[in-house]
Amino acid sequence: MEEDADGRLRPTAAAGSAQEAVERAVELSRRWRRLERTRLEVVREYAETDGCRRRFLLGYFGEDLAGECGNCDRCRAGTARRHVAEDGGEFPVGSTVVHARWGEGEVVRCEPDRVTVLFGEMGYRTLSLRLVQEEELLRAA
Ligand SMILES: [Zn+2]
Repeated sequence: MEEDADGRLRPTAAAGSAQEAVERAVELSRRWRRLERTRLEVVREYAETDGCRRRFLLGYFGEDLAGECGNCDRCRAGTARRHVAEDGGEFPVGSTVVHARWGEGEVVRCEPDRVTVLFGEMGYRTLSLRLVQEEELLRAA
């Protein structure tokens, strides 16, 4: 877009046709809806996790909490402790990984049996660590 002499915005020649603009808008809308759906999955995982909730939330924001908080309901119930030893091994929170189909992503959570990655195009995806290892689905970037 560029501004004309009267201050109105007009499409520039490089912006392409109206049809192309519509197609781009539709694609952006699809991506946004896909991301929203996967965000909903993350909220559900948060509700169902038996691991430390603070650790879960920090992972979502790209930070790794070493160990458990000791204050959330899961820590007080004693279920979070079993996650400590195996976390962060091959796929530490905040690290970048590559999936053959979904491209590059950032690890937001890693538990003993699963890893959750935020992929730019596909949103949040939770993968079984067993399958990741057997099928070599992810590699460190
Ligand atoms: Zn906790």
